Amino acid sequence: MDFPKTTTCVCGRTAELRPKDVKTIYKDRYITVENVPVYLCEAYHQHVKLPRKVRAQVRKRLKLAYSKGYPFILYKSDNLGGK
Ligand SMILES: [Zn+2]
Repeated sequence: MDFPKTTTCVCGRTAELRPKDVKTIYKDRYITVENVPVYLCEAYHQHVKLPRKVRAQVRKRLKLAYSKGYPFILYKSDNLGGK
């Protein structure tokens, strides 16, 4: 993964890159993408920030999960930067 390990959160604290399960509504369904690298802020881990590339990849995984009918899907970054 070529992201910096930390970033500055919107609240000014340091946010660390960590894997996290991200549960989200995609269209009409709840889908959890597992092991997404996100920045978590120290403020009770309430602040979550996704690098832009990760967000794009999460959307791809959600689309795939949705089309297959999966409630969970593992995050993968294998086709980052691909076409
Ligand atoms: Zn914060």
